[in-house]
Amino acid sequence: MTQTHALGFFILFTLLAMTWNHIFNLIASMTGSRLFCQGKTHEGHICGAPTQKTIPPKKKKGVWYTCTQGHTCQGAGFHPFKKGVVSHTVWVASLLFIVILLSQNFPA
Ligand SMILES: [Zn+2]
Repeated sequence: MTQTHALGFFILFTLLAMTWNHIFNLIASMTGSRLFCQGKTHEGHICGAPTQKTIPPKKKKGVWYTCTQGHTCQGAGFHPFKKGVVSHTVWVASLLFIVILLSQNFPA
């Protein structure tokens, strides 16, 4: 593996480590997964159960969702996937490798 290859690999890896959660969220929002019900429970709390697109009730328009608890509401909440501390450490470390590689008289 040459230095150019190593550099290319680390740049790609850093970009992936930085962006994979955004890609994940984009796919999740497109496929409708990670959606939760915004209906109210009897106690007045937000339901939060997994919810799916459903046929709108009669004389209603828009996108409606029905949850596993039986609520039918317009709209749904989305749980974005957030990276943990470890994921951030990974791309910071990878970026550090790029800096090291570049500082070694690249391209030698
Ligand atoms: Zn619900």
